[in-house]
Amino acid sequence: MSQRITLLGATGSIGLQTLDVIALHPERYQVFALAAFTRWQALAELCLRHRPRYAVLRDPQAAAALRNHLAAIGSDTEVLEGERALEEVSESPETDVVVAGIVGAAGVRPTLAAVRAGKRVLLANKEALVVTGALFMQAVNDHGAELIPLDSEHNAIFQCLPQEGRSRQGVRRLLLTASGGPFRGYSAEALARVTVEQALKHPNWDMGPKISVDSATLMNKGLELIEASWLFSMDESQIDIVVHPQSVVHSMVEYEDGSVLAQMGTPDMRTPIACGLSWPQRIASGATSLDFLTLSALQFEAANLSLFPCLRLAREALRAGGSAGAVLNAANEIAVQAFLDGQLAFNGIPSCVEATLTHLPATGFTSLDEIMSVDEEARAYARQQVTSRGAQY
Ligand code: NAD
Ligand code: MG
Repeated sequence: MSQRITLLGATGSIGLQTLDVIALHPERYQVFALAAFTRWQALAELCLRHRPRYAVLRDPQAAAALRNHLAAIGSDTEVLEGERALEEVSESPETDVVVAGIVGAAGVRPTLAAVRAGKRVLLANKEALVVTGALFMQAVNDHGAELIPLDSEHNAIFQCLPQEGRSRQGVRRLLLTASGGPFRGYSAEALARVTVEQALKHPNWDMGPKISVDSATLMNKGLELIEASWLFSMDESQIDIVVHPQSVVHSMVEYEDGSVLAQMGTPDMRTPIACGLSWPQRIASGATSLDFLTLSALQFEAANLSLFPCLRLAREALRAGGSAGAVLNAANEIAVQAFLDGQLAFNGIPSCVEATLTHLPATGFTSLDEIMSVDEEARAYARQQVTSRGAQY
């Protein structure tokens, strides 16, 4: 029987690449719902091609425009709107797999709804896990959800870990690889002057704007460090970061006996997406073969924590635990948007995040509402930092 897919963030980079893989296997997958934020024209096109039962737009005005448009052309896709609708299509008994491809903490509630409904959840939205941490993993356990990471590094580790009961027996450490982003090797002076356009040009991957900036500050690797710790129940001290500019080794697991297992491939998100969709089987993804004969040397080096403080801040937040992940993420979302809007210099991003972490020390939390109110408080403080001190950074 074919798997029915809900795709959160359908119009984004992960969303479109997921639809590319799905389109290669019409006998295996059927699109149940496509969800996005405001871009109704883009969603309209996807509805015509993939004929979902539901199209969801978070923004009601955009939803009204899509509804009119689809009615006029006689489409039988039903349009839903608002945040609650995102949760409804994620927890519906008519869907088997939910792809969490929304960017930022905006994905927390619909992703958790899918987890609580015990779905197979393909997680690209790392921020959802960074914000909710223990609560998220507890819900995975309590509701028997099947969580498969799509982030290429975590998907690599998922593939390299022992499969029986997902045991950690004999695992010594995880090695998360990082491309180093577009500013690897820059001097402090050069880094202080980088532009939005430069930050958005990633050397190896074509991604949405937020994660592209995160890759440039190395906050992406910081969020991934926290993500890996939760996903694989590994202590912060057991996860090392290795800069590997070619993005061919997607990450590694080192065992007690000295064996290191790596997952490799061309840098193409369709590989982890196909892996997550079909696991434990394997299906074609559209990615090209890795050609070892034309590969140039593979390099590995340490990350520069003094030039890229975001990685240090994320490690400290992971050590602090509790609400620190949510504060780190919220401040970073505000700072990245301010950088994209030209209100904050590149180096202002870590400064704003650090100030917010100092202002809101880590506390414990037991409910989603509690942690989402910390998220709001951190956003408000970070916004204030941008307004009052943005020019100084
Ligand atoms: P993107 O900006 O290209 O797309 C984001 C999607 O989320 C869009 O469909 C948008 O409509 C939707 N969205 C944004 N805000 C929303 C809201 N408030 N409510 C509902 N929908 C909303 O981003 P992306 O690059 O596809 O990244 C998505 C997630 O996947 C991020 O968490 C990112 O870190 C992660 N990720 C992406 C890649 C990649 O190659 N793009 C790789 C690894 C992990
Ligand atoms: Mg990644």
